[in-house]
Amino acid sequence: VAGTGVVGRFAPTPSGRMHLGNMYAMLAAWLSARARGGRMILRIEDIDRPRVLPDADRWIMDDLTWLGLDWDGEPVYQSDRLDRYEQVLDALRGRTESCGDGEEDCGSGDFAAGMPLVYPCFCSRADIRAASAPNEGDGFVVYPGTCRRLMRDDPAAVRARLAAGRQHSWRLAMPDDADGGIVRFDDRMYGAQTFRLARDLGDTVIRRADGLFAYQLAVTVDDLDMGVTDIVRGRDLLRSTALQLYIRGLVSGADRPSPKPTPTPAFAHLPLVDNAAGVRLAKRQRSLDMGVLRARGVTARQVVGYCAWLLGLQPTPDPCDARDLLDGFDWTTPAADLTDRRVPDDPF
Ligand code: GLU
Repeated sequence: VAGTGVVGRFAPTPSGRMHLGNMYAMLAAWLSARARGGRMILRIEDIDRPRVLPDADRWIMDDLTWLGLDWDGEPVYQSDRLDRYEQVLDALRGRTESCGDGEEDCGSGDFAAGMPLVYPCFCSRADIRAASAPNEGDGFVVYPGTCRRLMRDDPAAVRARLAAGRQHSWRLAMPDDADGGIVRFDDRMYGAQTFRLARDLGDTVIRRADGLFAYQLAVTVDDLDMGVTDIVRGRDLLRSTALQLYIRGLVSGADRPSPKPTPTPAFAHLPLVDNAAGVRLAKRQRSLDMGVLRARGVTARQVVGYCAWLLGLQPTPDPCDARDLLDGFDWTTPAADLTDRRVPDDPF
């Protein structure tokens, strides 16, 4: 592969057969990297074990191959990288927010007294709901800070609970001072983005109470370790991007002796794909999943052409090969239409 330095990734969760909305995001990720001669990684995001279906990784690879979307090297399974996530968590856990040398993203504020960057959280979902203000937005619940206050005000009580074996998750504290808590980035589709970590994200679980590592930690460590330069995914992860950029800064400083500046990846978030009724194409809606479409005799060229049209790369959904779309692809070519897409129940 030409050494252009561009590295893209497919990052599917193997929880079911992929559907048209997944394929459209995969096509965009592939075009973003391959149109510039970049490498493409396949990372199977299988750490959320209760959601994993045993054969889904093979279906995903088969569907990608069928569509002509290729990748380099062996697929990487997150379940093989648990030691690495553990190592990063340990490094973060060992840190108080003294905010060493020249790390701009670091808050000071209430960390100055030795508040750890990562703290144990004993709250159940019901505790969090009860302590939260009613949610008027998109349903995202910002952690109300109960165990952060406990950690600050009564660390002995926290130690006692840990010693008693109380079940807990680990939360990453967000900086909430005036500057440290702001993350800005430019999205190739949605333009300039600004998030305030404490207000918009809140302290975030990075290891769950059931012991599983959270998506946010695993994906950030992986994108960093694998040198990913191009991240393409649904707009539902715009907010997570701010968090992942923050975690990225902490991880590059936490466990590398002389942190090399690691370039921030370029992000493209895509409008989501809904069915005709405006409901997100969830995996349980089978009619637009690859298994059903392929069994009905829909061709790969039809699926690619349809996805290209959803991306705004074609004026009509004309069948084509993925390779036909490479020539001249850049992020100025997708349609500027940022509204979520709706597809009929039978688009073919
Ligand atoms: N595994 C995630 C998903 O399938 C993708 C996350 C990402 O692209 O960062 O939703």
